[in-house]
Amino acid sequence: MAAYRSIGDEPSDIGEMYQLSYTGIDAIDHGDDYALGVLADLEGSVPEWLRVHREMEHSFPSPSGIMRCRLQQWFDAKKMKPDQSSPRGWKVRRAMGIISEPYWLAVLGSGGADLAMSNKKFDCGPHMWAHPDAVMNGEFLVEIKSVSGWGYRKILESWGGVEMVEKGHYVQAQLYMYATGMPWTLYLTWPADFGQTQSSMRQKKKYGKHYEMQPLYLEWIPRNEDTIEMALERAEMVAADKLSNEPPPREFAGVEYRTDGRRAWPCGYCLHLAKCNDLIRKEVETGESDITFV
Ligand code: SF4
Repeated sequence: MAAYRSIGDEPSDIGEMYQLSYTGIDAIDHGDDYALGVLADLEGSVPEWLRVHREMEHSFPSPSGIMRCRLQQWFDAKKMKPDQSSPRGWKVRRAMGIISEPYWLAVLGSGGADLAMSNKKFDCGPHMWAHPDAVMNGEFLVEIKSVSGWGYRKILESWGGVEMVEKGHYVQAQLYMYATGMPWTLYLTWPADFGQTQSSMRQKKKYGKHYEMQPLYLEWIPRNEDTIEMALERAEMVAADKLSNEPPPREFAGVEYRTDGRRAWPCGYCLHLAKCNDLIRKEVETGESDITFV
């Protein structure tokens, strides 16, 4: 069994990883031949990446979606028609997130990292497979995520990092470490709307109008056996849900908007919201629900 480093014994100082990344960003910006060569080598992998991501998004359970609502996963696994089509803006954003991965890997590669691209799938328990973005220096995984400006700001300001702010990403990284036997993941995230996010932060007194937002956020995620166990158990549950014609219980309140008028996460963004609330209404009307009206 591999001897895992303990928490606090990261593969290297996170500051060094930032330096490496900034060197790579500048090298690509200057048109450095080596940097552009790294990028050219990676760009050819984009169509395959897009295909694999799409395949993963449409398998149930999967490491990237395991923390999604059980009922939402059941609707998708049963191929039930969404109540509304996925907005085109989401599709563009999702594709751009994937297309940006070679850029960030080229940043790390031209900054000096030794990257092995993971073009293969790894078994991840009995029901899932893993497709990590890369293995770096033969020592740890790299996971790249594009997030909204709102999510980016939250992770910059939070004390708990990715585990607290992007639980789904954290659990996915854990499952990938389980599947590959790796002890650490370097998590790299960046905001899809840099200018707008920086500008909104500059309007806050605590940042001020000259605030320079960092272009990426890095964090070491150590392997955590308890989370892996939880995720594998959840995968068992989702796999059993999929075989059943009975819908599983929903895991959120089915509320579209918060009291301040903003869309509520996750139900406000769920393509099965109407069906989900119809199910609950039916259960209440037929007396099959624990919910009672007083
Ligand atoms: S609306 Fe909310 S509770 Fe219902 S299926 Fe979607 S995510 Fe789950």
